[in-house]
Amino acid sequence: MTVNLLDFDLEGLAAFCETLGEKRFRATQLFRWIHQRGATDFDQMTDLAKSLRGKLQTAARIQGLSVITQQESADGTIKWLFDVGGGNAVESVFIPEDDRATLCISSQAGCAVGCRFCSTGHQGFSRNLTTGEIVAQLWFAEHFLRRHLDTSERVISNVVMMGMGEPLQNYSALVPALRTMLDDHAYGLSRRRVTVSTSGVVPMMDRLGEDCPVALAVSLHAPNDALRDNLVPLNRKYPLAELLDACNRYLAHAPRDFITFEYCMLDGVNDQPEHARQLVELVRTHGISCKFNLIPFNPFPASGLLRSPQPRVLAFAKTLSEAGLVTTVRKTRGDDIDAACGQ
Ligand code: SAH
Ligand code: SF4
Repeated sequence: MTVNLLDFDLEGLAAFCETLGEKRFRATQLFRWIHQRGATDFDQMTDLAKSLRGKLQTAARIQGLSVITQQESADGTIKWLFDVGGGNAVESVFIPEDDRATLCISSQAGCAVGCRFCSTGHQGFSRNLTTGEIVAQLWFAEHFLRRHLDTSERVISNVVMMGMGEPLQNYSALVPALRTMLDDHAYGLSRRRVTVSTSGVVPMMDRLGEDCPVALAVSLHAPNDALRDNLVPLNRKYPLAELLDACNRYLAHAPRDFITFEYCMLDGVNDQPEHARQLVELVRTHGISCKFNLIPFNPFPASGLLRSPQPRVLAFAKTLSEAGLVTTVRKTRGDDIDAACGQ
């Protein structure tokens, strides 16, 4: 069995090159071919010695994911469904905006956290993606988009780990994938433009701060433990006080000086005026530097939940803003292709 080179960050690739009796610096050349030029075939790598290409052909492969479907929205959003084998599929979504272009990536097939408002959570957990499967989403999308948009410039400027799965429950595959996104010899993304979104896996937030600090988004969704226990079952293990302490510790390492709190607005559940007031109180008590991103809920039948009406979302945002908390309401993108969050 050959090894998939998409599974390696540069350090891992260098170690692999050493096992082939090659100098570590060859790994940099190889890494650039794969990630910067989108090479799929060792024969393309004309500046590598023939002997090395021969060794690679026997020992290695560059294996992406196969696309099941690709849908393009009227607003330029593109959603891909990738086959990850065993009847499982994961999704990536490309979201172009005026000042940036974001790719939303999956970290697991399914998810074990089981949040009530999330269709991935309702599916249950199938398996962790490998580093190669996480990176392959970016590798494919970036090189597809360069051809699609007929450019040799980098297209994707931001990555958010907000697709399917809980990235911090797939930590060992996540970290080399993040390192590849950040590496100047690969995608060269800024740490501030790579965001891990978590439902609050406290110990892994601490490790991420040490191992690979990137921007952090925390899915809050409730201002008190009773409600959060019900919406995000992981809260029973890591309740709000612990979660917010972990956010403060993370800020000591983070490339940004705030945490983004995501809050999915559910009609009659977590969108009342008193919830907004409790939220203000909660973040004040913990003295945490944060911004809020209110997400209009994307309903699906099995959830039994509804989207908050827009005036209620705006009133909620107003309460937070007036208390001095920077608050945005997420625009829904790609609605026509079901590419919005949680779909
Ligand atoms: N597991 C991680 C990252 C993936 S979910 C997390 O929970 O943070 C990414 C974001 O989409 C989370 O904030 C999640 O709460 C939100 N989300 C999930 N289902 C949704 C839905 N049906 N409508 C709107 N947002 C949803
Ligand atoms: Fe998992 Fe995130 Fe969905 Fe919760 S919201 S079930 S953590 S993917």
